[in-house]
Amino acid sequence: MPGIIIKPRSRIYHGHDWVYSSEILKTFGSPEPGEVITMKDYRDRPLGCAIYNPVSQIVARRISRRKQKLDAEFFGRRISQAINVRTSSDVDPQLCRLVWSESDALPGVIVDRYGDHLVLQTLTLAMEINKQLIIDALVDQLSPKSIILRNDSPMLKAEGIEPCIELVYGENPGAFIVTANDIQFEVDLLDGQKTGLYLDQLDAHASVAQWAKGKRVLDCFCNQGGFALACAKAGAESVTAVDISESASEATKRNAEINGLEINAIKANAFDFLKGCEDKYDVVILDPPSFTRNKKTLNDAMRGYKEIHLRGLKLLEDNGILSTFCCSHHASRELFLNNVVSASVDAKRTVRLIKNHNQRLDHPVLPAIPETEYLKGFTFQLTPSR
Ligand code: SAH
Repeated sequence: MPGIIIKPRSRIYHGHDWVYSSEILKTFGSPEPGEVITMKDYRDRPLGCAIYNPVSQIVARRISRRKQKLDAEFFGRRISQAINVRTSSDVDPQLCRLVWSESDALPGVIVDRYGDHLVLQTLTLAMEINKQLIIDALVDQLSPKSIILRNDSPMLKAEGIEPCIELVYGENPGAFIVTANDIQFEVDLLDGQKTGLYLDQLDAHASVAQWAKGKRVLDCFCNQGGFALACAKAGAESVTAVDISESASEATKRNAEINGLEINAIKANAFDFLKGCEDKYDVVILDPPSFTRNKKTLNDAMRGYKEIHLRGLKLLEDNGILSTFCCSHHASRELFLNNVVSASVDAKRTVRLIKNHNQRLDHPVLPAIPETEYLKGFTFQLTPSR
């Protein structure tokens, strides 16, 4: 089998599964892009098998510490292991991320389950080439009514894969309803702008809603209204939900209607909305998209967070609640926390940390692969002015 020899001090010696091009000492046997290769250390000791793509900065991603082929048995075993992880946690196995890439030792493979319907992403070349085996294993183990391939991630470019959204098994389900936290959401996995839900935030929706009863709530970057709906359902006095996307704002309105809840959904840039807002709130939620995809723009991203934190804090009354989330793994929990502290200093307010939030358990974190931990959030309560 062709392979690579990996330089000393590379991340793989610390439990990571990735090999960057700069970490390769030597390539032997002319491996093909998308092929399985063997990996060795600089003393010729085996480090397992990896999928290979020289087009990507991450040239090799380990799939096993032993010898391993990409065959039906492999995909069947890995997928069944991933399903077991979900069914043995308190995550709803009918509405969850069933397979999550490196965390399930299937680098680049993501499978989300919406009841009888699955959404598949194959974001690495080897997995894209072998997607039929993955589809077969999913059909075999879950008997879904449909599988939709939704390869539209920006990650594809780095792997040299063409974006593609298509039905790869069964019949197009069209728009249908899923229930999370006792709230109904309309999703349309193939054609819709509203696509799936942010499954990683479902626990946080319920958690933040505990402070909403009788309160005036502002949900910024609301997408389909996950936080807003949970707060309205929990008995908020009023809920305003802001998103820059027309389709997200429409979806929030539609979901509110379906659930018989009242939400004031506004299509606006949250930065402008927060700047011009003259109303006061008791609960402010900030859940923006990742402001950075790399280390280079991290400082700019942190300036963006600081601005929304500062403006969010200014809209809050005494004892008000600020829930804020960051989904970029480049910004550490500590950096993000310090950002809120710095905003609170500028706003001349004191915040008390009342809750730490994490990505839901169906997005398992492997501490040896820091990139698997990306979502962090905090809920603060403002102390009375001092
Ligand atoms: N809170 C949601 C997920 C938010 S995803 C949930 O828990 O389900 C981020 C959202 O921010 C997307 O819907 C995107 O349309 C929106 N967005 C991006 N930039 C924005 C901006 N400048 N102002 C308002 N919304 C924005």
